[in-house]
Amino acid sequence: LPTVFQKAAKVISIIEENQYEAYFVGGCVRDYIIGRPIHDVDIASSALPSEIQNIFPKVIPVGLEHGTVIVRYEQESFEVTTYRTEGVYTDHRRPDEVYFVRNIEEDLKRRDFTMNAIAMDAKGEMLDPFYGREDIVSERIQTVGDAAERFKEDALRIIRALRFSSQLGFSIEGHTKKAMKHYKGLIDKLAVERLTVELEKLCAGSFFKKAVDYIFELEIYHHLPIFNDEPLLLKELEPVASLAPVFAFVALKRSSITVTDCIKAYKCSNQLKQQASNLVDAYHHYKKDGINAWFVYQWPRDHWDHFTYLVKQIDKDIIDIKEIYSIYEGLPILSKKDLCVNGHDLMRWFPERPKGKWIKELLDQIEYHIVISGLANEKSKIKEWIQWNLPVQD
Ligand code: ATP
Ligand code: MG
Repeated sequence: LPTVFQKAAKVISIIEENQYEAYFVGGCVRDYIIGRPIHDVDIASSALPSEIQNIFPKVIPVGLEHGTVIVRYEQESFEVTTYRTEGVYTDHRRPDEVYFVRNIEEDLKRRDFTMNAIAMDAKGEMLDPFYGREDIVSERIQTVGDAAERFKEDALRIIRALRFSSQLGFSIEGHTKKAMKHYKGLIDKLAVERLTVELEKLCAGSFFKKAVDYIFELEIYHHLPIFNDEPLLLKELEPVASLAPVFAFVALKRSSITVTDCIKAYKCSNQLKQQASNLVDAYHHYKKDGINAWFVYQWPRDHWDHFTYLVKQIDKDIIDIKEIYSIYEGLPILSKKDLCVNGHDLMRWFPERPKGKWIKELLDQIEYHIVISGLANEKSKIKEWIQWNLPVQD
């Protein structure tokens, strides 16, 4: 077994020594079979959360109502979830209840797609009652059980099928595809936050274009907020790992849509809103003044990749990020904190002036000129500069 599984395999063995079962399940088994990098390892067990708590000294109850705990073992964390089935989804949002079961097959049966319904034990033996491996080899996305039933139960699976197609490049099997088209209207009833999580992954997939083709073929864009009015924007997008540049792109391409509209429609965080608005502002700055020192100074480093993405999407211009880095390397200061003068200095130099907003305005100007026009960040030079530039007081 690859190293990512080895530590977790010990956790499984300990659970087994205590007369319960435990398996690797879900995305990690799928990605292992495909040969993709594995990001997190999930364990399913016949033991109840309380029973897991009796086995390991350190267990963090993170989602007891869903049967999920985190086991701390040798300084690492492992998510262990009790085998469960799900009750009905009367409101199409979340299952009303979950039921713990003692049989792994029951647990695998509630999972969305055959490729996600394979269990693997600590020795690497697979349990694959729905022939997920065959579907993986054939690069096929297919629901576990009747597709119509599964999408009626939880319409998020329709979007998940698209996001897996985008991530893996797999095709959607015929019955599954037909049911997606038929039940897509149920997407409107989902809690939008769940949709947002999947949309972000969908936009990041290397085979995003393939997923977009499905979105058009099945006319699913009608059920994607914002894109329902502007579906063609989806065709113009290249894959990107965050919704911030996606929303900035939409807002810049369509004057009728703002970043705030997108954020509200998908109930995103204020942080994402800030990132998307910064990208829009940076784009306007770029169109007006190009990439100069002030641009590089103003926009945080973690924005530059998304910014160059945005310019490429909108203008087809390729900005070399190395160019931005070299301007960054040459910046005389990196933030206001680096200025060698402060408000007290200014007040001392101009004792006749009463305290007021001139201080902040002057500091802003000093900052700007140091960054952009070669004013040295030295007390004497700044004082001299001020004497020439200080607006007269009335
Ligand atoms: P990723 O690598 O992106 O995390 P994943 O397959 O692990 O992919 P998750 O969303 O983390 O996807 O879900 C973990 C597992 O839980 C899935 O593999 C699947 O078996 C099951 N699952 C998740 N969401 C659903 C759902 N809405 N309906 C049925 N099964 C689901
Ligand atoms: Mg996962």
